[in-house]
Amino acid sequence: MLQLYVPLNFLGFIYREIKQALLDIESMFAVLARDPEIKDKPGAPGLVVHGGTVRFENVRFSYEGDREILKGVSFEVPAGRTLAIVGSSGAGKSTLSRLLFRFYDISSGRILIDGQDIRDVTQSSLRAAVGMVPQDTVLFNDTIAYNIRYGRQDATDAEVEQAARLARIDDFIRSTPKGYRTEVGERGLKLSGGEKQRVAIARTLLKAPPILVLDEATSALDSHTERDIQDALDTVSQGRTTLVIAHRLSTVVGADEILVMADGRVAERGSHAALLAQGGLYADLWHRQQEAEEAALAASDVEATV
Ligand code: ATP
Repeated sequence: MLQLYVPLNFLGFIYREIKQALLDIESMFAVLARDPEIKDKPGAPGLVVHGGTVRFENVRFSYEGDREILKGVSFEVPAGRTLAIVGSSGAGKSTLSRLLFRFYDISSGRILIDGQDIRDVTQSSLRAAVGMVPQDTVLFNDTIAYNIRYGRQDATDAEVEQAARLARIDDFIRSTPKGYRTEVGERGLKLSGGEKQRVAIARTLLKAPPILVLDEATSALDSHTERDIQDALDTVSQGRTTLVIAHRLSTVVGADEILVMADGRVAERGSHAALLAQGGLYADLWHRQQEAEEAALAASDVEATV
């Protein structure tokens, strides 16, 4: 009996290790993406969030060598407001969100949350205060309920379902064979990009961070899915300081302020209406995207009639 028990027990151990490794995969990506030199200052206190005002002051940053990616970026997102960040590919938009998580330290300037320099507080308290809805969400090979509960391990079934409803993914889940107990991931049901993003939104709703970073998917979504995701994002960002890295300009129209990045600098800033009236870079981006969307629509009409 003992002969059988020992290997079985060992197998159980391996299984738990692998499961833990999968659970940690998201944090592992985060760890890989950041500079190993970053350490908490001795005796650093935890971040104290009052409302979650985020402030970048003249931030300069290079990943390596003297190729400067951010060349003096300043902005403030008042507590509970939404800032949309737009600009061409490579302008430095995602870099801003990596710096807010302190995956790297900046070369000069300051990043403050409610007046506290993020280099002066513990990294764990910083990461607990900031939630991220990434472009591409990692799903674990487990049930859909497990994947949502990852946002807060002690959430009840009712809370998981409420988060799914708010994230507009509850109907989809109920339509699957085993509902919340349906296995997803590599070996289970494959979810589309839009469905995965809504799972990420549900997770974030459970985590309920005061500050939120939304990295919008670049991939084209059909207009119904896009509407659903937009509604879900509006719900999750309510009452939270939100930075949206936007690829589709249609989603930034309602932002309190839009920052237009170009070559590591803030080229323009203002509301959608003000920036359109300015007739600069943003207006250009907007008109080009409108034309592309109209052309895509016309092409799909032709397809539908053929
Ligand atoms: P996109 O819209 O394509 O996502 P972006 O505006 O978000 O672009 P970033 O991802 O912030 O752009 O990248 C800005 C610049 O920094 C790019 O030129 C990129 O090549 C460079 N870069 C990004 N990550 C790294 C890294 N880990 N090491 C070195 N350079 C990097």
